[in-house]
Amino acid sequence: MSEMTDAEIELKLRDFFESNFQYLKESSGHAIDGYMREKAFQQVLYYWKKNRALIEKITRSEVKLSLPERVTPNDKISYTIEGIVDIVQEKDGTWLYDLKTHDIDRIKANITQYKEQLYIYSYIWKKLQGNELDNTAVISTTLPDRLEAAIRKRKPELIEQELEAWQPVIPIGYKEEEVEKIINNFGEVVEKIEKSEFCPPDVDVLLNKPAGMKSVFAVHICRNCDVRYSCSSYEKYLEVSKGATRNTMRKYMKPSAEERDEFIQGNMERE
Ligand code: SF4
Repeated sequence: MSEMTDAEIELKLRDFFESNFQYLKESSGHAIDGYMREKAFQQVLYYWKKNRALIEKITRSEVKLSLPERVTPNDKISYTIEGIVDIVQEKDGTWLYDLKTHDIDRIKANITQYKEQLYIYSYIWKKLQGNELDNTAVISTTLPDRLEAAIRKRKPELIEQELEAWQPVIPIGYKEEEVEKIINNFGEVVEKIEKSEFCPPDVDVLLNKPAGMKSVFAVHICRNCDVRYSCSSYEKYLEVSKGATRNTMRKYMKPSAEERDEFIQGNMERE
């Protein structure tokens, strides 16, 4: 079978993207408009262009790793940790990759969180499944701002230059001696969730830019949060931020007595 040309691969990527988009739209009920949809496709396309050599070396993709039968440290609640990674196995070493849609600055500023996840996956892959492992890495799939600007300007030379400068792969390594502590911390979080001990961060957190992020927490994180209209901190943020006033957003946040009754009734019927 003859090899596909770059143009044919790009067409194929467009097909895959459109069918995935339709699937996600129908299964989640969320859709994005034409501009955002094209931007999302550009992210896929340039991710492929930049990482083509690495992608072609992937020996196993979307490998599901599972750590079952764990119990939380205090209340002994059982839980399972699961994750999905890509694996490259070559003569000169085996790498485990975790793809993230977060931008590179955010990943670097919060590297411990990413490292912890990768260490758990590595532990399952190496220790429990007995596979080889030489290194691990996170791959950031978000296009850098300068590359996005070059794409918007449709300047091929500039695009090439920015593609060359982009470094989306962040090597993490692996230290098995840290895994037990990480799993223990994980168990403590599971315990809090199971006991419904979770509360939103203080409104001050929402008003500030977390490390490595370009906008404040409320914009970068909360705007994508499905429960924001029932979140007390987000409500306070809307009260104090300049972007929203009492007379605009807040009135939509308080459900009427009728809506509240419908909500309760709906949930009772589902039980
Ligand atoms: S809106 Fe969501 S993300 Fe933001 S503070 Fe509330 S619960 Fe957390």
